[in-house]
Amino acid sequence: MRLISRSALRPYVCPSCRSGAVSGRRRFASKPDQTPDIYDVVCVGGGPAGLGLLAALRASPATAHLKVALVETQDLRKARSWNLESHQFSNRVSSLTPSSVSFLQKIGAWEYLDTDRIQKYQEMKVWDGETGSRISFDSSAETSPFEDLRTVATMTENANLVRALLSRIEASGDENVSIFSNATVSSIENGADQPDGPDLSGWPVLTVSPTGPAASSAQPSRIAARLLVGADGINSPVRSFADIKTDGWDYNRHGVVATVSLSEPDQVTFPIGTRTAYQRFLPSLGGPIALLPLPNNNATLVWSTTVENAAYLKTLSPKAFIAMVNAAFRLSMTDLKYMMRMERPAASISDVEDPHESELTWRLQHTPQPSQIPPLATGIQEGSVASFPLRFRHASTYISPRVALVGDAAHVIHPLAGQGLNLGMGDVASLSNTIEYAVSHGMDVGDILTLERYTAERWAVNAKIGGACDVLHKLYNVPGNGPVAWARSLGLDVIDRLPFVKGFLMKNAEG
Ligand SMILES: Cc1cc2nc3c(=O)[nH]c(=O)nc-3n(C[C@H](O)[C@H](O)[C@H](O)COP(=O)(O)OP(=O)(O)OC[C@H]3O[C@@H](n4cnc5c(N)ncnc54)[C@H](O)[C@@H]3O)c2cc1C
Repeated sequence: MRLISRSALRPYVCPSCRSGAVSGRRRFASKPDQTPDIYDVVCVGGGPAGLGLLAALRASPATAHLKVALVETQDLRKARSWNLESHQFSNRVSSLTPSSVSFLQKIGAWEYLDTDRIQKYQEMKVWDGETGSRISFDSSAETSPFEDLRTVATMTENANLVRALLSRIEASGDENVSIFSNATVSSIENGADQPDGPDLSGWPVLTVSPTGPAASSAQPSRIAARLLVGADGINSPVRSFADIKTDGWDYNRHGVVATVSLSEPDQVTFPIGTRTAYQRFLPSLGGPIALLPLPNNNATLVWSTTVENAAYLKTLSPKAFIAMVNAAFRLSMTDLKYMMRMERPAASISDVEDPHESELTWRLQHTPQPSQIPPLATGIQEGSVASFPLRFRHASTYISPRVALVGDAAHVIHPLAGQGLNLGMGDVASLSNTIEYAVSHGMDVGDILTLERYTAERWAVNAKIGGACDVLHKLYNVPGNGPVAWARSLGLDVIDRLPFVKGFLMKNAEG
């Protein structure tokens, strides 16, 4: 358990007032080595959640003056100068819900995104590969003639988002903001009540070490935080320091991702420009396959499957991989299981038709095709196939005295509903509002009573969405046509015929 000294729990006295009282003695003294640099908010982690928080604090007039720092292990200068050819796309792409988009617009980050690289979609087609039952969501049908086409979500490369957030922070000026990249937090401990300095007992004090020669020379080695925010991902050091427990399990599944090019759609969509996301649940293969649209007939693939299948897919030639993606949206479970075990051809025959391609062509002739399949995958971007382990984690609370967790440090969920990063954006919106409220009401931003509001707003919401994704994963992992398959197909078919229930589900998916 994290030990908090008694002074951290007694009524708050502003440390700058305390140091002001002794400033006469300290005015000319050089700063002793052991005195850490003091910040109002220190964020560990420069992923979308950490940078989102910093951008939000800089955007609000109430919090822009706070002295804030962010520590990130990786080189954020590389993230700032990230650039890809216009026909290439990163394989880490997230579907941002309308709520996340409005938050990013509100904090002024959206205008820094390269919008030629994002893709909205208005329609979602989801079906069960085992039973064939399906559901489709069409937000364009709900759009009135006087408004822009409503979207289900906007596909955005994570790197595009990170670069935009960095630009937004940079545009807010250097004053009071320090970004230490190529720097890792190697330890965190409670500070001490220094006889000649501020009382930092109960304040987290971070030891920061450079991770390479590119680290900034101005980087302090010790930083004290009035409020320490853990945006440091699934293995959060901040969460360990605060001794916050997590529940969870590994799904024993991997998410295979890739950037895929698609053939021209067979039918013209109406309204013109409508784009569709496709997801087919494959219970016998361990999870769903999803194709989500990117600009110019490109798409991002997320195929959640067993570790063995993921390893198999990653070793296939591009032709065989494309054949498997097309098969996964078109063939029966039995055919797919067979193709997933086919021998891989020797490299020497890679120029001729791949056995996976011929197998698909032959089997397609004997398989009736449903109406909702995506256009054929025709190419795969070189080097874009990768896989990530899928896990569920939920912290027992998001706060502790002078500590708050956001994003994957607080919760990691199955990606089948594309909600992980969106939940992180929701956390950041809520925590930045909490800090804003505290500052404008003269409260201490690190006080547990201040932070209560944040955890109360976010914990149950995230538990509900993470839990729903977990139930869906489990429900759609029961193979065969038994009672579970019957119940889930009945559920989907009934929902598909009830416009009000569907509308309600869509509202929830939009965030
Ligand atoms: C296959 C897949 C598909 C997904 N698709 C979607 C989707 O469509 N929509 C969606 O909303 N979400 C999606 N997600 C989830 C989403 O990618 C994550 O939720 C999101 O990226 C987490 O962001 P974060 O900033 O919280 O954490 P991270 O991106 O993990 O950032 C944490 C940062 O902390 C830094 N750090 C860690 N330790 C230290 C330390 N000691 N010192 C300094 N820095 C440190 C790390 O270097 C890292 O940069 C998907 C996930 C997967 C696996």
